Amino acid sequence: MSAIHTCQGVVLHCIDFRFRKQLGEFLHKRFPDDDYDLIADAGGVKSLVTEGEDSAFLTRQFDTSHRLHDPSVIVLVQHEDCGAYGGSVAFEGFEAELHFQEGELRKAATLLQERFPKIAVESYFIRLSGELIPRKGN
Ligand SMILES: [Zn+2]
Repeated sequence: MSAIHTCQGVVLHCIDFRFRKQLGEFLHKRFPDDDYDLIADAGGVKSLVTEGEDSAFLTRQFDTSHRLHDPSVIVLVQHEDCGAYGGSVAFEGFEAELHFQEGELRKAATLLQERFPKIAVESYFIRLSGELIPRKGN
């Protein structure tokens, strides 16, 4: 079955309101026609990479986006001080937090690339300052 209307990408990010403005600006730059599907879940990729019902739910969202809108890129965005991971205080410092979130992004990208081998996966990390850091493998 082919999609009747298509979009450029599908985005997964955390529900955290503190990043809405920066994220909106970034996504508008990345997708100037705002033609992307949007999935929001507390913790971003956290539930996706943790086996269980929530992972299956998120996988179904990607499946549905894929089936209905045939996106050519998946964009994953994790952020600093994510409450779903216990916030920044759960880590020894920023580098430890970034390193951990890189691992989460890598796990999610691997999982999604296995399921959708023809779709590129881009991963990003947003700091509280608004700085957006592209991660390896983009
Ligand atoms: Zn969060």
